[in-house]
Parts: sequence; C-alpha cells; structure tokens
Amino acid sequence: MQLAHRIALDPTPQQREYFRRAAGTARFVWNWALAEWNRQYAAGQKPNANALKRMFNAVKYQEFPWLVDVHRDSHAQPFANLAKAWGKYFKDVREGREAHAPTFKKKGKTRDCFYVANDKFSIDGMSVKLPLVGRVAMREALRFEGKMMAASVSRTADRWFIAFQVDVPDAQFHRKRTGHGAVGADLGIKAAVTLSTGESIQAPRPLKRALRRLQIRERRQSRKIEAAKAAMGLAGKRVPKGTRISKSKNFLKSSATSARLHARIVNVRADFLHKLTTRLCRENQAVAIEDLNVSGMLTNEKLARAISDVGFYEFRRQITYKAARYGMRLVVADRWFPSSRLCSACGWKNVALTLNDRTWNCCGCGSTHDRDLNAALNLKRLATETALPVASASSNGAAAAGIAPAVVGEVTPVRHEAVSKTARGRKKSLRTCA
Ligand SMILES: [Zn+2]
Repeated sequence: MQLAHRIALDPTPQQREYFRRAAGTARFVWNWALAEWNRQYAAGQKPNANALKRMFNAVKYQEFPWLVDVHRDSHAQPFANLAKAWGKYFKDVREGREAHAPTFKKKGKTRDCFYVANDKFSIDGMSVKLPLVGRVAMREALRFEGKMMAASVSRTADRWFIAFQVDVPDAQFHRKRTGHGAVGADLGIKAAVTLSTGESIQAPRPLKRALRRLQIRERRQSRKIEAAKAAMGLAGKRVPKGTRISKSKNFLKSSATSARLHARIVNVRADFLHKLTTRLCRENQAVAIEDLNVSGMLTNEKLARAISDVGFYEFRRQITYKAARYGMRLVVADRWFPSSRLCSACGWKNVALTLNDRTWNCCGCGSTHDRDLNAALNLKRLATETALPVASASSNGAAAAGIAPAVVGEVTPVRHEAVSKTARGRKKSLRTCA
C-alpha cells in the first residue's frame, strides 16, 4: 500500500535557486517532448516516449548546454509523465469519457515540480540529501516506514515541499477505528455536512472571508499591469501575441502576497476536510454519501463558489482513501437516488421539492423535514442495509490486526430501488400527494 507524506522544506537561497532551475528544466523538457510528439504525429508517424527520450539525450548537451547543471532525473522524468498523460487520454477516448490531451506548460501557470528517483536521495532525521544541492532541512521527519518509491519537490506560493512516496506494510496502512456506527452524510451549502445523527458541521469558509482581501490584492496587481502597458504605449489596447509585459519588482511582490493568501485558503480548507473525513472513517463502520455531480454543479454560477469553497471533490477523494485505511465501508448512493426528495419516515417522494425549500411537509405521513437531515437519514438507510454487523470478522478487529477485510474501502454502487423499501425491509410503493 502506497502512502505519500508531503513535508515542508527550509532551503537555503542557493538551494531555492536550484529548485527553481530544476522545475524550469522539467517544464522545458515536457514542452520539448510534447512539441516533438505533436510534430511526429502530424507527420503521420507513431510517436513513442522512449524513442523521444533517446532522441533528446542524443542532442541535449550540445543544444541545451545549461542542462549539465541540473540533475538528470529532472530532465528524464517528463518523458514518462508525457507517456502517462497520453495513455490516460487514449484510455478516456476509448472508454467514452471526457478526454483532455496533454498541453504545454506555461511558466507561472503550472505547478513548479521536479522528480527525484528513490536511489538519488537519502533521509537523515529532519533533513534530506538531494543530488547537487546536498542536505536540505525538513520541517518534520518522515512519518512512514517502508520501501521508498520516489520523491518529488514542488512549490506552493513561496514555499518548497518534498513529497515522499512510500510503500508501507499493511500493519502500518490500517488504522484502528474507535466506533462502529453507521451514518449518512449529506453534503450541502448551508452546512458543509449534515449527519443522520442530527449534527450539522459548518465548514470554515476561508475563501469567503479572504475574498475581499483577494479582490484588493488583485486590483492592485492589475493596476500595475495597466501601468506597465501604458509605459509600452499599449494603454487600453490588447497586448499583441508574443509581447512580454515587463513585470516590475512591486508587481512581483504583490503577486507573491496573493499567492500566499491563496495557499492559506487551500490550507484552511484541507485542514478542515482532513479532520472531518478522518473522524467519519474512525467512528463508523459504514458511511453513506451522495454521488454528487460536482463538475455539473460547478457550472451553476450561484453554487460554484460556495461548493468549491467547501471542497466537495476533495472530500470525496479523502474519504475514499481513508475508508480503506480504517476498514470503513463507504456507500455511494446512485447519482439519481433522490435523497432529498424521499420522506425518511414513510418513503413518500416529494417531486415538487426545489433547491430553496429548506423544510418541507410530507403528504404521506405528515411529518416535517429539515431538508439536509432528511437526506442524511435516507443515506443512512443505505449505509445500514449494506453494513456488516459489528461482530463479523471483517469489522474492526481484523483491520486493526493488519488483516485487510475483503470489503474494505469498496465503493458500492447502490441503485435507488433499494430504498423504496422501509427500514424494516418491506417494499412500499411510492405514493403521490393527493
Ligand atoms: Zn412521510
């Protein structure tokens, strides 16, 4: 089982400078390889990443002599990455999914990042020895023990990080649960998560709070751009393609401040989601969530900012991998399962429910529902129908002992027909309001 640990680095100015160059090299090589790939493809040839790499290696030190100063891993890995990107593209095309061909990496627009192979670095407590730059101080020691697979160094705002990919033994991978509950979790805008226990958890809305600051920052930056354009005689005009606007020291300072603000927003969001998903996985043997069509929801302008501020997509990613670690069964409701519309008491379906209805009355049994809690209760029903009894072998005991239960982390597609039954399992037909 592979786990990654991302650790902040404390590089010296010289090491920073090298990191920048190495990341720049990785980007340059990617662009070279992609351009060559596209050229060969247009010429009717069958491009291949390994052949491209040989081609590059044959000419690199003559054509790009500055590559000598950057470690080989930074200019070898992009070929493997490119092969992977094309592989994913063709697979998506074959399987009828939305496919994105690899694109060129523009300086400042892509993540600065480079790769270090597992035999090229060594860790000694709170420092890591990297090729060409020597010991770099780390902010914490590596948390996992196991087979080191690889590392990559990347930048977020003005900080550098190293991520170690470690293949850990099962005993270290599996975590002990503290509870055996079954819970339905409804993700929402008003409360980030409403649990079927009635608890509603508010997300910190870092973006909303920081948005005003961000707007001020970005306004200042755009003024500086306008000033630079005016100095070039381009005031109010469109910048012709290929023209570079010189960036002043103050512009760079100001954009570094916005980048730090963005990074802080991301950190606050990640902290909240990690604590929430860990708690759900630790306290429950089964959790049911909705299969939200996040990209579909993001096209709704009104909802987009609120949704991306909570981080639904990241929630789903985290709960999925943590479910495997805690031996928690994650049940994902079918995308068309009407969790908000069904009455959790009698199963009547409220077809007239709109997004604005926070509470509604059931025409079947007369009960009054809080929209989010009702949805969570319906999801809980999915969780309990598939949950295993606490006493069974695949519950927590086995997971804690390091034996992977057969069902761990499995995402079970549940069809919505399963839920027109009542909690007692009796089939009930859906009634319509008279
Ligand atoms: Zn009802």
